[in-house]
Amino acid sequence: MPYEYQECTIVDIQQVSDHARIFIIQFPDQHTFQFRPGQFVMLNLPLNSKYTNRAYSIASPPAANNRIELVISLKATGKGTHFLWEHVEIGSIILVSKKALGKFALPENLDRDLCFISTGTGIAPLRSMLLDLFATNKAHGRIHLIFGNRYEKDILYRNEFEELRKSHPEFNFIPVLSRENPGWTGKKGYVHPVYEELYQDKKPAYFYICGWGEMIKETRMRLQAMGYEKEFIRFETYD
Ligand SMILES: Cc1cc2nc3c(=O)[nH]c(=O)nc-3n(C[C@H](O)[C@H](O)[C@H](O)COP(=O)(O)OP(=O)(O)OC[C@H]3O[C@@H](n4cnc5c(N)ncnc54)[C@H](O)[C@@H]3O)c2cc1C
Repeated sequence: MPYEYQECTIVDIQQVSDHARIFIIQFPDQHTFQFRPGQFVMLNLPLNSKYTNRAYSIASPPAANNRIELVISLKATGKGTHFLWEHVEIGSIILVSKKALGKFALPENLDRDLCFISTGTGIAPLRSMLLDLFATNKAHGRIHLIFGNRYEKDILYRNEFEELRKSHPEFNFIPVLSRENPGWTGKKGYVHPVYEELYQDKKPAYFYICGWGEMIKETRMRLQAMGYEKEFIRFETYD
């Protein structure tokens, strides 16, 4: 499907872990960019003298300043991310799809728990949803965010989620680390036993899963084995 693109400006870049950077993108005043939390954009990047698309979820909630935030991890052999790392700096002009894409979005009526499950930069669309829910004061129940990473230093937006946990008692932030981290007293291993324990009584919940394919496949399989129906299991796959 062809996309229409808008020239946008990179107004900030932050290195937020060894492998991840935040890119803040400014749309020009003449193009008001609208999106639903959970959606993504296409970047049209000049790779090997040919413009090629790469999809990135929007990590920020809708805001009046016509800006979006992306959080991207560098892929060792990746062409698009190497271009972003080596050729994109503050002030660069970049082509971004004029419209937001995708159907990964919360339902109108949040009449069940929300259980967010992600790994790595899969946090992006879930952060957008979460911040929007809190900013708009939309009625919601309990929210669990289960966030898997290898190392403590990889936990994106950690301070922000910890602060939100203090100010929103209904919000439960559960980082999970899969590798040896000296001194770590939180959850260890993979995300799967965490939601299996939290929802062993099968209480009503919407599950929102985002990240790479294997984790999503496994999570969907396990949730269905627990008895959750497909309509309550929503996901965005990065590959
Ligand atoms: C909906 C969605 C949202 C995503 N959001 C994020 C995010 O928020 N953060 C993040 O870090 N990653 C995200 N990704 C992954 C991202 O799109 C890239 O796959 C990742 O950054 C690696 O890109 P790369 O070019 O460095 O790697 P590469 O290995 O060069 O390419 C990665 C993928 O791009 C596609 N591709 C490769 N060559 C071409 C080509 N010539 N034409 C068209 N497609 C090609 C292939 O599907 C390939 O698997 C998302 C993916 C999807 C589908």
